Formats: sequence, structure tokens, C-alpha cells
Amino acid sequence: MTDDDALARLYHHYRSVNRTQFESLLPNDYRIAWNPLLRRLTGRITYRDRLIEISTFHYHNYGLADALATLEHELLHLYLHTRRLPSGHNALFKREAAVRGIRVFHANHYPRNQPPRDRYLYECPACGRMVFRQRRLERSRIACGICCRSKASGAWDARFTLRLVEKVRMA
Ligand SMILES: [Zn+2]
Ligand SMILES: [Zn+2]
Repeated sequence: MTDDDALARLYHHYRSVNRTQFESLLPNDYRIAWNPLLRRLTGRITYRDRLIEISTFHYHNYGLADALATLEHELLHLYLHTRRLPSGHNALFKREAAVRGIRVFHANHYPRNQPPRDRYLYECPACGRMVFRQRRLERSRIACGICCRSKASGAWDARFTLRLVEKVRMA
């Protein structure tokens, strides 16, 4: 099924559940659109723009049933909004959702922003070579391999112990 076909199914579902679940109270001029950026949310509704957006990411990963479940969730927001009731994820929303078998919070996995990673920059005091390490090394544990090989016959030598220059925060 193409994204366009799935969008047509969403529009059809909108009209259908408006009759079966929402007493045909929902306006019929809301647009439905894919949003490729939504991750934390599976969808969202913007009353001012009369727009319901459904996450392309969640549709591609969890299928049409998931997109339909998201649409029903957004339509419940719209239902409460149309009736001039508080339309957030409040106790009323949860009660009305339970009655209709509508999902309140999705449990889909999605990529979160990676926390910044630290790297440690070390320097050999003899040759000046710089190396990055993922973890902070215990003091005096690691020496410059090049200097140890060339100036200490390959033995570990305290003179070439790497020194921490700085902790670097990678983006
Ligand atoms: Zn919601
Ligand atoms: Zn060195």
C-alpha cells in the first residue's frame, strides 16, 4: 500500500468513526497529512489549521492499524474540542477513550536523541601524539605505544605515560 492509499484509508476511517463513535459531531473539513518528523508523538492535531498529522515513521514501522489508532486518538481530541470541553489528556479524555477502545499513550519504540558522548583526549609527553579514548583511563595505566617501541624496546615505560589533555563533548 502506498502512503497515498493509506491516506485515503485514513480519510475513510475518519468519516466512518465520526458516525459510529462520535455521533457525527466532528467537522468534515479537517485535513489529514503525513508528518515525517514526528517520533515521540504518533500524531497530533492543530485546531487552528484544521489539521491532523500522522507520523510517517510510526506508520512505516507499525503499519496501518497503528495509524488508524492514532487517528482515532486525535479524533477524540477533536470531539472534546468541538463540544467545548477540555481536550488534553485529562481524566475525561481517558474515560471517553476507554469507552471507545481508543489508545491514550502509544507504546511504540522510537529513536530518541542520543545523549552527548564524552571523549578523552590524551597526549604523549615525549612525541606529542594525541589519542582519543572513549573512557577515562586510570592514571598512569597507558603509555604511548610508538615511544615505548622505539625508545624502550617495546616495554612499558613511565616516561611515555599518556597525559589527559581534556574531556571533549562530542555532538
Ligand atoms: Zn493526544
Ligand atoms: Zn609518544
